[in-house]
Amino acid sequence: MEPKLSPLFTKDEIAATVSRLAAEIRRDYRDKNPLLIAVLKGSFVFLADLVRQLNLPLEIEFVRLSSYSKGTESSGRVRMAPGAPSQIKGRHVLVIEDIIDTGLTAAFLLDYLGRKKPASLKYCSLTDKKERRRVMVNIDYRGLTVPDKFIVGYGLDCDEKFRNLPDIYALE
Ligand code: 5GP
Repeated sequence: MEPKLSPLFTKDEIAATVSRLAAEIRRDYRDKNPLLIAVLKGSFVFLADLVRQLNLPLEIEFVRLSSYSKGTESSGRVRMAPGAPSQIKGRHVLVIEDIIDTGLTAAFLLDYLGRKKPASLKYCSLTDKKERRRVMVNIDYRGLTVPDKFIVGYGLDCDEKFRNLPDIYALE
């Protein structure tokens, strides 16, 4: 059976949020040549829109993690895939994430990157599923608050589908 998608945020609402976050990041990183570390795969659309509004020198790296094995239930374990960025020491690092759910991924990444002695370490997430938080994490740049539903679109998938939808939907 095809899953039912309920509209949650339109592409215009998402664009306004990305612009707001970009303005905050521009203000804070003007002369810092930040290293943006985007969490694959879900953040690729958000990253692409965000960086084109950051008219300042910056670099981009990617990390691949896993907490969702398949479908919509978190496995509760986070692992780092091979190929993690190595030049972190002394850099102003900003993590770019699509969604924070339980917070386990963010907590893992903040610990992992923090050990590599960055000059600063902050977190930016387009969406925040607050109700489901299991560990406290500080989100420095927070986009849209989402309900306790599985969301897709704008980079977010369900079993690799729906990443290409311009809007964000809840899966019913
Ligand atoms: P956390 O570790 O905070 O529980 O989950 C973070 C990761 O789980 C996200 O980067 C994303 O890959 C996945 N995730 C959590 N909630 C959702 C959701 O509602 N939709 C989608 N597509 N992925 C989610």
